[in-house]
Amino acid sequence: SLSNPRWRRVVFKISGAALAGNGSQNVDPKVTSLIAREVVAVNRLGVEVAIVVGGRNFFCGESWTAATGLDRTAADQIGMMATVMNSILLQASIENLGTQTRLQTAFKMAEVAEPYIRRRAIRHLEKGRVVIFGAGTGNPYFTTDTAAALRASEINAEAVLKGTNADGLYDCDSRNSSNVGFEHMSYRDMISRGLSASMDITAIHLCEENCIPVVIFNLLEPGNISRALCGDPVGILIDQ
Ligand code: UDP
Repeated sequence: SLSNPRWRRVVFKISGAALAGNGSQNVDPKVTSLIAREVVAVNRLGVEVAIVVGGRNFFCGESWTAATGLDRTAADQIGMMATVMNSILLQASIENLGTQTRLQTAFKMAEVAEPYIRRRAIRHLEKGRVVIFGAGTGNPYFTTDTAAALRASEINAEAVLKGTNADGLYDCDSRNSSNVGFEHMSYRDMISRGLSASMDITAIHLCEENCIPVVIFNLLEPGNISRALCGDPVGILIDQ
């Protein structure tokens, strides 16, 4: 419950699409302030929160590559830069509410952020700072879902909580018509049903290997972020 959080340390993955909310711009300020308020509240309860944010609200590399033949590596680098823009925005929004944060990027952007250093990230969390991991894994051909699973494994987080703009699980053909109804699913089921639009399969594999439960939930519903980050039932739980 919120008074007695289940997790000590979590990774909160925010999909880029969720940041766009229902507004017409790349980022909806209502969504960033909702996220900031809830993350700050959870931080004050003593939960160590690390954030990984996506980038598709700014740039969708796959469709661009498919439509233009642009080099995939270039598209992915732009995607990773987009996650850094979202990260800076979230950092500033959270700090606005008086909580300390640190941004660490997977490739060096020395004037903007710290480089990713595992031990330093853990130290920040222990000191009560919210840590934001920018630029995904730093490698093309990966996703920020995988970055979230990777960082969670590295920092011994107890859960990956993926906030999106949709209810339920969905596949590529039904991006908008969600299949609500599952409250629990095993890693294996998730993989065999090919629900990789909800969560990247590489990320699911990594979480399975390291026994890290994953929760996928709609973050646009007020209260859901605090519930998910504290381990209250919300969305869909994926585990053994
Ligand atoms: N990306 C990448 N390597 C990573 C993470 C992200 O190349 O480790 C690129 C990739 O092009 C991806 C984009 O950045 O499509 C944005 O990340 P993602 O698709 O995970 O964002 P989301 O769907 O959550 O908005």
